[in-house]
Amino acid sequence: MAIPLLQTFRVATYLAGRKLRGDKRYPLVLMLEPLFQCNLACAGCGKIDYPKEILQKRVSVEDALRAVDECGAPMVSIPGGEPLIHREMPQIVAGIVARKKFVYLCTNAILLAKHIDEYRPSPYLTFSIHLDGNRQRHDESVCQEGVFDKAVAAIRLARSKGFRVTINCTLFSGEEPRKVADFFDEAMKLGIEGITVSPGYSYSHAPRQDVFLGRTASKRLFREIFKLGRTRKSGAGWAFNHSTLFLDFLAGNQSYQCTPWSMVTYNVFGWQRPCYLLSDEGYAPTFRSLIEDTEWEKYGVGRNRRCDNCMAHCGFEGTAVNDAFSHPLKALKAAWSGPGTSGPMAPELPFNYVEGAGNAAGASSAAASPARAAVPEIAAISIADIKRVSRESQDGPRVAAQR
Ligand code: SF4
Ligand code: SF4
Repeated sequence: MAIPLLQTFRVATYLAGRKLRGDKRYPLVLMLEPLFQCNLACAGCGKIDYPKEILQKRVSVEDALRAVDECGAPMVSIPGGEPLIHREMPQIVAGIVARKKFVYLCTNAILLAKHIDEYRPSPYLTFSIHLDGNRQRHDESVCQEGVFDKAVAAIRLARSKGFRVTINCTLFSGEEPRKVADFFDEAMKLGIEGITVSPGYSYSHAPRQDVFLGRTASKRLFREIFKLGRTRKSGAGWAFNHSTLFLDFLAGNQSYQCTPWSMVTYNVFGWQRPCYLLSDEGYAPTFRSLIEDTEWEKYGVGRNRRCDNCMAHCGFEGTAVNDAFSHPLKALKAAWSGPGTSGPMAPELPFNYVEGAGNAAGASSAAASPARAAVPEIAAISIADIKRVSRESQDGPRVAAQR
C-alpha cells in the first residue's frame, strides 16, 4: 500500500464534499511549478527550454500559497525545473504543510543533501525523487553520469532522517520489461514508500519526438511489467503511488478520457491551460477563470492531436480516482486482482477531429473520423541515442544553477 490511510481518507473526504456540492470540475492535485530552471538537461524534458529571463523567474511564497488556497486541492505536487534551486522553497513547503495539504516535492536530488535540513519530516511532506531506471538507464535519461548514485544516496539520507520518499519514474521507448522489473525490485529495497510511473509524454519542446512511447506500446509494456511482477515473489512488494484503476488503465484495460482539470498547473505565467504538459495553450489569470473559461472539450484523446499519445497520470489519474469513487466495487475488484495482464485491450476512444486541421476539436463529427487503429506506432529509439538540443542554444548556453 503506497498511499497512507490518512491521505486516502482526506482525498476521499474532499471528493465526497465536492460531489455533494454538485461541482462538475475540481482538482485533486495542484501542480505547482515554482520555476523552470534546472541543474540538469534531460533528453525527454519539455520544461527547461525557455529563454534565460524566463528561467530566472520564480513564483513567490505569497503567490504559491495563494494558488494553493485558491484551488483547494488536497495534494500539491511541486515539480519544476528543479524546486531545490528556489531559495524560498522551504517556506513554500512549510506553508503548504501548515495547511495540512500533502506535498510531493519532486527533485532530481542533486541538491537534496545540501538542503535537507531546511525541511522537517511530516506525514504531509514526501520527497519524490526522479529515478528513471538502473544506473545506466537513469544516467542516460538525464544525460549526465553519476546522477543515479547521487539520487540513491539522497534517498537513503532522506529515509534515515525520517522523511517520506517516493520515486517518480518515466518510461520511454526501448524499455525492456525485465530491466524495469529489476529496477522496481531494487528501488523498493531502498525503503521508498512507492513508485510513481508514467509513459513519457511526447513534449513538442523535447529534442526528439521519436523516443516517446505510443499508447499501444505503452500498454504492452505495462502488461509485461505487471506480468513479471506477478510471477516474481518480489513483485508483491512493489508499491505504486497510484490508484489501482490507473494502473489497470496503463495496462490497457480501461478506455479512460483525460480529465485535465483534476491536476491543475500554476507556474510563473499563471494558471496553465489545460494541463501540466501542454504549455502553448495560454494561461488564466485566476483559478476560477481556468476552471470556467477553459474550453476543456478541446482536450483529450481523440479530441486534440497533441493528446493522442498521452497516458500521463496528470490527465488520467483523476479520471481513475473518479471512476473508483463512482464504482467502488470495480475498484475493490481491481485492488484485489491487480491490473489485468491478458485478454483483449479496452477499445481506444474515437477520433473527433480531422488530421491536419490543427487542434480542431469538435470540428468534425465522430462519424467522419478515421478508425483509431490507423494511428501509427512511434519508432523505438533508445533514450541513449538522444542528444539534447536546446531551443535556446542559438542565444547561448542554458542557465544551469546551483543554490
Ligand atoms: S530533472 Fe530533468 S526532467 Fe526534471 S526538470 Fe530537470 S531537466 Fe527536466
Ligand atoms: S491528454 Fe490530457 S493530460 Fe495529456 S496532454 Fe492532453 S490535456 Fe494534457
